[in-house]
Amino acid sequence: MKADQFDSWLTVDARGLYCRPGDFHIDPHAAVPRAVITHAHSDHARPGHEHVLATPETLALMTARLGAPASAGSQSLAYGEAITVGEVTLRLVPAGHVLGSAQVVIEWKGRRAVISGDYKRAADPTTAPYEVVPCDLFVTEATFALPVFSHGDAKGEVSKLLKSLRQFPERAHVVGVYGLGKCQRLIAMLREAGFAEPIYLHGALASCCEVYERCGVSLGTLKAATGAPREEMRGAIVLAPPTAISDRWSRRLPDALTAFASGWMRVRTRARQRGVELPLVISDHADWGELTRTIEETGAEEIWVTHGREDALLYHIQSTGRRGRSLALIGREDEDQ
Ligand SMILES: [Zn+2]
Ligand SMILES: [Zn+2]
Repeated sequence: MKADQFDSWLTVDARGLYCRPGDFHIDPHAAVPRAVITHAHSDHARPGHEHVLATPETLALMTARLGAPASAGSQSLAYGEAITVGEVTLRLVPAGHVLGSAQVVIEWKGRRAVISGDYKRAADPTTAPYEVVPCDLFVTEATFALPVFSHGDAKGEVSKLLKSLRQFPERAHVVGVYGLGKCQRLIAMLREAGFAEPIYLHGALASCCEVYERCGVSLGTLKAATGAPREEMRGAIVLAPPTAISDRWSRRLPDALTAFASGWMRVRTRARQRGVELPLVISDHADWGELTRTIEETGAEEIWVTHGREDALLYHIQSTGRRGRSLALIGREDEDQ
């Protein structure tokens, strides 16, 4: 192993990205003895590991979603705290993606690698903001890595939702949201915009909201949609998982108007396919501008790209004089976009 040859000490095996001098995997997609988990989305935080190291918030979210985060033991590491694992020094630094999300900073023999996990640079009242860490190797996500993706201002999208509510006060506004992250960010942004009414939740969204509240993110008055009187939900905001907005569940709501909050709502055909009347472009992932700016700011000479549209970003990386490599990690899904 040579420190300046990153692929000699950060390798990809059948279970995912592996740090050899530290003897741990990062976000492995199959059970391993030691895992460092960047955040609690299901394509990163799988069940069945023996030992898990993550931020306290990520461990709390994993517990809510999976039960025990690890079979033999879990260790929480607060943002910024450095520990030694095998031969490496390890730190977790805010990634700005969802509550508890972290970049993994690994130092070995004077070289520093940063594994971003999923991240965004846009403001989010529910998570610590992304921190740029200067490094030699930066492993970046690439969910929205095409120049066409520019997410714009999420506050404007929240205003659109509130405007629709004023225009159609007799209709329940059912908004599709991913259960961890998008749901709580949308609620917090509605509160910031002055919306103080109760917000109704599909049952699948309740447990992550509780963890956010326990971690100090206040979400205001939340009510269960199931069991609430139908007339009470006229002109109310009702949040539900994306799969529920067009099925029988939402047909019980009074004259439901369907919205969907996702970075993919930039693509009109996606909104049409889902029968979404009010697409809201709100993303918890970096857009093209954020990805290229972040790569620049890390100062890294080598960039590995994972998780999505690698080609355009690799071309960009190489054209700016850096070494780029596509990391083909399996098992990454659409859970959180
Ligand atoms: Zn994620
Ligand atoms: Zn992801």
